[in-house]
Amino acid sequence: MLDMRILVVEDDDRVARGLVTALRTASFDVQRVATAERALSAPPADVVLLDLGLPDADGIDLLRKLRDRPQTAIIAVTARSEERDRVRGLRAGADDYVVKPFGVAELLARIDAVLRRTRAARAEAAEEEPALRIGGLTVDPGSRSASVGDTELQLTRKEFDLLALLASRSPAVVARDQILDQVWGTAWEASSRTLDTHIGSLRAKLGHAVQIRTVRGVGYLLDRS
Ligand code: CA
Repeated sequence: MLDMRILVVEDDDRVARGLVTALRTASFDVQRVATAERALSAPPADVVLLDLGLPDADGIDLLRKLRDRPQTAIIAVTARSEERDRVRGLRAGADDYVVKPFGVAELLARIDAVLRRTRAARAEAAEEEPALRIGGLTVDPGSRSASVGDTELQLTRKEFDLLALLASRSPAVVARDQILDQVWGTAWEASSRTLDTHIGSLRAKLGHAVQIRTVRGVGYLLDRS
Protein backbone atom coordinates (compact mmCIF):
# COMPACT_ATOMS: atom_id res chain seq x y z
CA MET A 1 0.00 0.00 0.00
CA LEU A 2 3.08 2.24 -0.14
CA ASP A 3 1.64 3.78 -3.26
CA MET A 4 -1.36 4.93 -1.22
CA ARG A 5 -0.82 8.36 0.27
CA ILE A 6 -2.62 9.44 3.41
CA LEU A 7 -2.64 12.98 4.71
CA VAL A 8 -3.33 13.26 8.44
CA VAL A 9 -4.64 16.70 9.43
CA GLU A 10 -4.56 16.76 13.22
CA ASP A 11 -3.47 19.50 15.62
CA ASP A 12 -3.13 17.24 18.68
CA ASP A 13 0.47 15.94 18.60
CA ARG A 14 -0.24 12.91 20.76
CA VAL A 15 -3.20 11.77 18.63
CA ALA A 16 -1.26 12.49 15.44
CA ARG A 17 1.78 10.46 16.54
CA GLY A 18 -0.41 7.44 17.27
CA LEU A 19 -2.18 7.72 13.93
CA VAL A 20 1.00 8.16 11.90
CA THR A 21 2.63 5.16 13.58
CA ALA A 22 -0.42 2.95 13.05
CA LEU A 23 -0.80 3.96 9.39
CA ARG A 24 2.90 3.53 8.62
CA THR A 25 2.77 0.10 10.24
CA ALA A 26 -0.06 -0.69 7.84
CA SER A 27 2.35 0.34 5.04
CA PHE A 28 0.71 3.59 3.99
CA ASP A 29 2.73 6.56 2.82
CA VAL A 30 1.78 9.07 5.54
CA GLN A 31 2.20 12.80 5.88
CA ARG A 32 0.94 14.73 8.90
CA VAL A 33 0.13 18.43 9.16
CA ALA A 34 -1.25 20.33 12.15
CA THR A 35 -3.01 23.28 10.52
CA ALA A 36 -5.54 24.00 7.78
CA GLU A 37 -3.02 26.19 5.99
CA ARG A 38 -0.50 23.35 5.77
CA ALA A 39 -3.25 20.92 4.73
CA LEU A 40 -4.08 23.08 1.70
CA SER A 41 -0.46 23.29 0.59
CA ALA A 42 0.27 19.57 1.09
CA PRO A 43 0.75 17.37 -2.00
CA PRO A 44 -2.36 15.50 -3.17
CA ALA A 45 -3.27 12.38 -1.18
CA ASP A 46 -5.52 9.39 -1.86
CA VAL A 47 -7.13 9.74 1.55
CA VAL A 48 -7.29 12.73 3.89
CA LEU A 49 -7.95 12.02 7.55
CA LEU A 50 -9.36 15.36 8.62
CA ASP A 51 -9.80 16.46 12.22
CA LEU A 52 -12.71 18.91 12.05
CA GLY A 53 -11.58 20.70 15.22
CA LEU A 54 -8.54 22.68 14.07
CA PRO A 55 -7.18 25.84 15.69
CA ASP A 56 -6.73 27.98 12.57
CA ALA A 57 -9.86 27.33 10.50
CA ASP A 58 -13.37 25.95 10.45
CA GLY A 59 -13.04 22.22 9.71
CA ILE A 60 -16.07 22.21 7.42
CA ASP A 61 -14.68 25.07 5.31
CA LEU A 62 -11.43 23.18 4.98
CA LEU A 63 -13.29 20.00 4.05
CA ARG A 64 -15.07 21.81 1.21
CA LYS A 65 -11.77 23.16 -0.12
CA LEU A 66 -10.06 19.76 0.03
CA ARG A 67 -13.12 18.15 -1.51
CA ASP A 68 -12.67 20.31 -4.57
CA ARG A 69 -9.58 18.27 -5.45
CA PRO A 70 -10.15 15.35 -7.73
CA GLN A 71 -9.45 11.77 -6.64
CA THR A 72 -9.13 12.43 -2.91
CA ALA A 73 -11.33 10.61 -0.41
CA ILE A 74 -11.94 12.38 2.89
CA ILE A 75 -12.61 10.79 6.25
CA ALA A 76 -13.76 13.37 8.79
CA VAL A 77 -12.62 12.91 12.39
CA THR A 78 -14.83 14.38 15.10
CA ALA A 79 -15.07 14.29 18.88
CA ARG A 80 -17.92 12.29 20.36
CA SER A 81 -19.74 15.44 21.46
CA GLU A 82 -19.83 16.93 17.98
CA GLU A 83 -22.83 15.15 16.43
CA ARG A 84 -23.73 18.31 14.55
CA ASP A 85 -20.27 18.46 12.94
CA ARG A 86 -20.62 14.89 11.80
CA VAL A 87 -23.79 15.64 9.87
CA ARG A 88 -22.35 18.87 8.48
CA GLY A 89 -19.21 16.98 7.48
CA LEU A 90 -21.09 14.38 5.50
CA ARG A 91 -23.22 17.07 3.85
CA ALA A 92 -20.08 18.97 2.91
CA GLY A 93 -18.83 15.90 1.07
CA ALA A 94 -16.85 13.73 3.47
CA ASP A 95 -16.79 10.12 2.26
CA ASP A 96 -16.97 8.78 5.79
CA TYR A 97 -16.26 9.77 9.38
CA VAL A 98 -14.82 8.34 12.56
CA VAL A 99 -15.53 9.47 16.10
CA LYS A 100 -12.75 9.97 18.66
CA PRO A 101 -11.61 7.87 20.37
CA PHE A 102 -11.47 5.21 17.66
CA GLY A 103 -9.47 2.03 17.31
CA VAL A 104 -6.84 1.37 14.66
CA ALA A 105 -8.76 -1.63 13.28
CA GLU A 106 -11.88 0.49 12.74
CA LEU A 107 -9.88 3.24 11.05
CA LEU A 108 -8.08 0.82 8.71
CA ALA A 109 -11.39 -0.80 7.77
CA ARG A 110 -12.87 2.59 6.89
CA ILE A 111 -9.82 3.62 4.86
CA ASP A 112 -10.01 0.31 3.03
CA ALA A 113 -13.71 0.86 2.30
CA VAL A 114 -13.32 4.40 0.94
CA LEU A 115 -10.34 3.35 -1.21
CA ARG A 116 -12.36 0.47 -2.62
CA ARG A 117 -15.26 2.81 -3.43
CA THR A 118 -12.96 5.36 -5.09
CA ARG A 119 -11.25 2.68 -7.17
CA ALA A 120 -14.57 1.13 -8.20
CA ALA A 121 -15.93 4.54 -9.20
CA ARG A 122 -12.83 5.25 -11.30
CA ALA A 123 -12.96 1.84 -12.99
CA GLU A 124 -16.64 2.29 -13.73
CA ALA A 125 -16.09 5.74 -15.17
CA ALA A 126 -13.27 4.42 -17.34
CA GLU A 127 -15.41 1.59 -18.66
CA GLU A 128 -18.54 3.54 -19.34
CA GLU A 129 -17.22 6.79 -20.67
CA PRO A 130 -14.65 6.96 -23.43
CA ALA A 131 -12.51 10.07 -23.77
CA LEU A 132 -14.22 12.98 -25.53
CA ARG A 133 -12.48 15.11 -28.13
CA ILE A 134 -13.66 18.56 -29.07
CA GLY A 135 -11.31 20.65 -31.19
CA GLY A 136 -7.93 20.58 -29.43
CA LEU A 137 -9.48 19.50 -26.12
CA THR A 138 -9.52 15.94 -24.76
CA VAL A 139 -11.61 15.08 -21.69
CA ASP A 140 -11.10 11.65 -20.15
CA PRO A 141 -13.74 10.81 -17.51
CA GLY A 142 -11.89 7.59 -16.63
CA SER A 143 -8.72 9.25 -15.39
CA ARG A 144 -10.55 12.50 -14.62
CA SER A 145 -8.07 14.40 -16.71
CA ALA A 146 -8.38 16.96 -19.47
CA SER A 147 -5.75 18.19 -21.85
CA VAL A 148 -5.22 20.68 -24.61
CA GLY A 149 -2.84 19.15 -27.14
CA ASP A 150 -0.17 17.49 -25.00
CA THR A 151 -0.66 19.78 -22.02
CA GLU A 152 -2.72 18.47 -19.13
CA LEU A 153 -5.01 21.08 -17.60
CA GLN A 154 -4.80 21.66 -13.84
CA LEU A 155 -8.47 21.59 -12.92
CA THR A 156 -10.25 21.48 -9.59
CA ARG A 157 -12.80 18.72 -9.03
CA LYS A 158 -15.74 21.02 -9.83
CA GLU A 159 -14.06 22.52 -12.87
CA PHE A 160 -13.49 19.03 -14.22
CA ASP A 161 -17.09 17.95 -13.53
CA LEU A 162 -18.37 21.08 -15.25
CA LEU A 163 -16.10 20.65 -18.28
CA ALA A 164 -16.95 16.93 -18.58
CA LEU A 165 -20.68 17.71 -18.50
CA LEU A 166 -20.41 20.41 -21.18
CA ALA A 167 -18.14 18.19 -23.30
CA SER A 168 -20.51 15.23 -23.08
CA ARG A 169 -23.33 17.33 -24.55
CA SER A 170 -21.27 19.38 -26.98
CA PRO A 171 -22.29 21.17 -29.14
CA ALA A 172 -25.71 21.24 -27.41
CA VAL A 173 -26.51 23.85 -24.80
CA VAL A 174 -26.76 22.70 -21.17
CA ALA A 175 -29.22 24.60 -18.96
CA ARG A 176 -27.89 26.40 -15.88
CA ASP A 177 -30.26 24.53 -13.55
CA GLN A 178 -29.12 21.23 -14.95
CA ILE A 179 -25.46 22.17 -14.49
CA LEU A 180 -26.05 23.24 -10.89
CA ASP A 181 -27.95 20.04 -10.18
CA GLN A 182 -25.43 17.68 -11.78
CA VAL A 183 -22.19 19.34 -10.78
CA TRP A 184 -23.07 20.70 -7.36
CA GLY A 185 -25.99 18.48 -6.41
CA THR A 186 -29.27 19.54 -4.88
CA ALA A 187 -27.92 19.47 -1.32
CA TRP A 188 -25.27 22.01 -2.22
CA GLU A 189 -26.45 25.59 -2.01
CA ALA A 190 -24.62 26.64 -5.13
CA SER A 191 -25.52 30.06 -6.37
CA SER A 192 -25.54 31.24 -9.95
CA ARG A 193 -22.45 33.23 -9.05
CA THR A 194 -20.59 30.03 -8.13
CA LEU A 195 -21.32 28.71 -11.61
CA ASP A 196 -20.25 31.97 -13.29
CA THR A 197 -16.99 31.93 -11.33
CA HIS A 198 -16.23 28.37 -12.42
CA ILE A 199 -17.10 29.14 -16.06
CA GLY A 200 -14.71 32.11 -15.87
CA SER A 201 -11.82 30.07 -14.50
CA LEU A 202 -12.44 27.27 -17.02
CA ARG A 203 -12.39 29.73 -19.91
CA ALA A 204 -9.08 31.10 -18.67
CA LYS A 205 -7.58 27.60 -18.43
CA LEU A 206 -8.92 26.44 -21.80
CA GLY A 207 -7.45 29.38 -23.69
CA HIS A 208 -8.28 29.26 -27.39
CA ALA A 209 -8.53 25.46 -27.72
CA VAL A 210 -12.32 25.48 -27.48
CA GLN A 211 -14.89 28.01 -26.41
CA ILE A 212 -17.60 28.01 -23.77
CA ARG A 213 -20.42 30.08 -25.20
CA THR A 214 -23.03 31.77 -23.05
CA VAL A 215 -26.58 31.23 -24.29
CA ARG A 216 -28.45 34.06 -22.59
CA GLY A 217 -31.27 33.03 -20.32
CA VAL A 218 -30.55 29.34 -20.96
CA GLY A 219 -27.07 28.13 -20.10
CA TYR A 220 -23.72 27.27 -21.66
CA LEU A 221 -22.38 25.24 -24.51
CA LEU A 222 -18.92 23.99 -25.36
CA ASP A 223 -17.83 24.12 -28.97
CA ARG A 224 -14.70 24.07 -31.06
CA SER A 225 -13.26 27.53 -31.62
CA1 CA B 1 -8.39 18.99 17.20
